[in-house]
This record gives sequence, C-alpha cells and structure tokens, in this order.
Amino acid sequence: MSTTRRQFLKTSASAAAVSLLGLPAILSAAPPKARVVVVGGGYGGAIAAKYIRMADPDIRVTLIERDSVYVSCPLSNEVLSGERDLKSLSFNYRGLSRRGISVIQDEIVEIDPVQRLVRGRTGGRYNYDKLILSPGVSFRWDAIEGMSEQVANTSIPHAWKAGSQTALLRKQLESMPDGGLCAIVAPPNPFRCPPGPYERAAQIALYFKHHKPKSKVMILDAKDAFSKQGLFQAGWKQNYGDMIEWVSGAQGGIIESIDPKTRTLVGTVEEFKADVVNLIPAQKAGALAETAGLTDASGWCPVNQQTFESSLHPNIHVIGDSAIAGAMPKSGYSANSQGKVCAAAVVAAVNGLPAPDPSYVNTCYSIIAPDYGISVAGVYELKDGKIVEVAGAGGLSPADADARTRAIEVQFALGWFRNITADMFT
Ligand SMILES: Cc1cc2nc3c(=O)[nH]c(=O)nc-3n(C[C@H](O)[C@H](O)[C@H](O)COP(=O)(O)OP(=O)(O)OC[C@H]3O[C@@H](n4cnc5c(N)ncnc54)[C@H](O)[C@@H]3O)c2cc1C
Repeated sequence: MSTTRRQFLKTSASAAAVSLLGLPAILSAAPPKARVVVVGGGYGGAIAAKYIRMADPDIRVTLIERDSVYVSCPLSNEVLSGERDLKSLSFNYRGLSRRGISVIQDEIVEIDPVQRLVRGRTGGRYNYDKLILSPGVSFRWDAIEGMSEQVANTSIPHAWKAGSQTALLRKQLESMPDGGLCAIVAPPNPFRCPPGPYERAAQIALYFKHHKPKSKVMILDAKDAFSKQGLFQAGWKQNYGDMIEWVSGAQGGIIESIDPKTRTLVGTVEEFKADVVNLIPAQKAGALAETAGLTDASGWCPVNQQTFESSLHPNIHVIGDSAIAGAMPKSGYSANSQGKVCAAAVVAAVNGLPAPDPSYVNTCYSIIAPDYGISVAGVYELKDGKIVEVAGAGGLSPADADARTRAIEVQFALGWFRNITADMFT
C-alpha cells in the first residue's frame, strides 16, 4: 500500500472518529477521483462543499468546521431588538453529512502546501488535492488602544460574529437605564457586511422605542459615507425620529482609544462616554489565512477572481469574506455566490476541463423596522481578470418607495434568509 493511500486511510479513520453527530463519512472501496478539503462551514464553505459533492460524487469532500453549530450573522441584529432569538439563527451539519460529505469538527491550525496537508488542533491530519478556505474575518485588535479580544469577550462586545457576543450585547442593552446612550463604533473599509452597523443602529433603536424611549444610539464612524446611506437616514428618521445620530469620520467619529472600565471613547476631536459600547473592530482575513501566508499587505487574500485559487499558493482556494473579490462586498450572499463559482472551477480542474465563465450575484437586505426594509443588489462579471459590477443590473430600493414596498422588502429579507440557509444546510 502506498504512503499516500495509507495516509488517506489513517486520515479517514481519525475523521470518522470525530465526525459530527456520529455520522461517519461513507468510505467507498474505490479511491476517490480527488480529495477536496473545505475549511469553514459558513456562508462560503458549506456551499462550496455541497456543490462539489452534487456536481461530482466521485470527489471525496471533507468539510472541517471548528464549531458543531453555525450561528448566522445575517438577521442577528434582530436579536438585539428582541425580534428573534439566537436559536432561530442556529444550524447543524446533519444535512451536509447526509449528502455524503465528511463533516468533521476541528480547528485547522496549520496548512502544509507542499505536502498538501492540513493539521487540526485535535491532532487530525487531512490530506487534500484541492483545499478551499472560507474562514471569515478576524479583528485588528491593535487598531484602537485599550481594545483586545479579552475586553470584547467581557465588557465591550463587537457582536460581529453571532452567538455569545450577540447575547452579551443584548444583555447589556437590557440592563441599560432609560435615557442612556449606546455607542456603536463602526469600522473602516473593507469589512464584513457594509450595511450591518447601520441596520444594527435601527434594531437597537427599535428596542429603545418600545422599552427605553428616552435612550439614544450614536454611531461613531471611521468613514465619511456608508452603504445605502440615504435610505438608512430616511428610514431612521421616519421610524425613530432623532433617536439615532451618525457622526462621520470628518465630524470626529474616528475613535483612537477606549477605557473599557468607564466606557469612555477618545476620538480625534472629543471624548464620548456611553452606557453600552458596541465596538466593531477593523478587520482582516480569517486568522488561518494569515498564518498560512495567504494574505498580502492589505491583510486580505489575493485570488484568481475566476476560480478563487490563491495567487500565493496553488491548489488552495479562498472564498468569502477573506478573499479579495473585486467589486463584491463582503456578505453572506457574496460568499454563497463565490462558493458556487469556486466549486464549478474545482470540479472542472479535477476533471481536466477549463474553468467555466463565472457570473456572480449579491443582494443585501436591511431591516430598519418590522415593516420597513431596504436593499441593494448587484450582478457581477469577470472583466480583465477582475470582478466588476454589471452596470444597470442591480441597484438600490427606490428612495420614494411607498409603505407597502418597504413592508414587502422585509418579507423578501426573511424569504432570502430561509432560502440561503436551506441552500447551505440541507
Ligand atoms: C451583524 C451582521 C449582519 C449581517 N447581515 C448580512 C445579511 O443580511 N446578508 C448578507 O449577505 N450578509 C450579512 N452579513 C455578512 C455575513 O455574515 C458574512 O459576509 C458571511 O458570514 C461570510 O461568509 P464566510 O464563509 O466568509 O465566513 P463565515 O460565515 O463567518 O464562516 C466562517 C466559518 O469558518 C470557521 N472557521 C474559521 N477558522 C477556522 C479554522 N481554523 N478551522 C475550522 N473552522 C474555522 C468559523 O467557525 C465559521 O463557521 C452580516 C454580518 C454581520 C456581522
């Protein structure tokens, strides 16, 4: 038996031992056509794993994910208003296991691109012919003095990865006195979910409107403009009057340091003291991508934008928030679209075919109030090796939409969530 074959069997055996939910991978007698390992079972990775498996059942697909349950960021701002709970955003990997994907709970800590091997924290070793990474984002803790992961975990939540962070922020909002201030520190570009901080302001204001009507939300922004700005500002005004204040970077919104004990934020112009601080740090590619040498000076991963193969290491593809994907925003829908384009390219490569012509899509809905939604949509194509937006193919919700249209956009947002999570996990 060859070393590779022996190694593969060893890997398979350890994989079966920790396979999630006691559903071990199906081992066929014949060797697989290729071994594809996907790391990260979120909006990008779950889709890439599923679509490769669907397109070519002779490819052995292993999905390695740190957590047993995935908690969706999309719609997690609604947990802050009390409109939904975290359970409604939580998904397991049983559906993907049932499709014949070997789903393993482990945290990958090392990638060996020469031996084509990834190593897990639990000691597992997983060989690949093609590796796909979708590890999301990590935070630049040093960008604001006084901030750290430990501070975020105990007193100043970012809630930019849904789960315990979201629960902590919600708890702080519940404990806050009426008449208090919640400060949201919005990050510089580029970051995960460009409309997210501004939807969050609205959802927190929704909670205040019903439970703490004398309270206020202040957004301290590193930027001078933001996604869907006109629509957000009109929606805030209509639904919450003067409850939400946005301070641009030029107006003094850039925060340089924080004293977590007193919740005092020191800006370039003045200091702000808040009852609750939601500091969303500046971002970069997921930690694994950085330690594996897949990032450039920008902190994100350069890729061939047709196949998502890394420009720095062959046979490793990076999708989702971590990737530099031309004009596409860092969103769940973008990650889904990239996952499908990448899956098609990997299946083609394994079968000795050229990568197909890609097309990409994104829509981001934002729920400002239970009957008031807005959206931005984009269709993208590859031009001279770069992903560019197709002019006139997408666009914003109309500025003068009537109440019925705004209410329908909320239903579209909820329908979008049901569809995309069914696409990922069933
Ligand atoms: C508040 C908020 C609201 C949002 N709303 C929307 C929205 O309405 N629409 C939209 O399209 N997008 C939205 N987004 C953005 C969306 O959540 C992200 O763009 C999307 O999750 C990116 O997908 P990904 O696969 O790159 O990363 P993720 O979905 O974060 O998945 C990464 C996965 O990799 C795992 N992982 C990381 N490192 C390792 C490792 N070393 N080993 C094993 N596993 C690892 C993680 O545990 C995680 O499960 C929102 C984000 C936020 C914060």
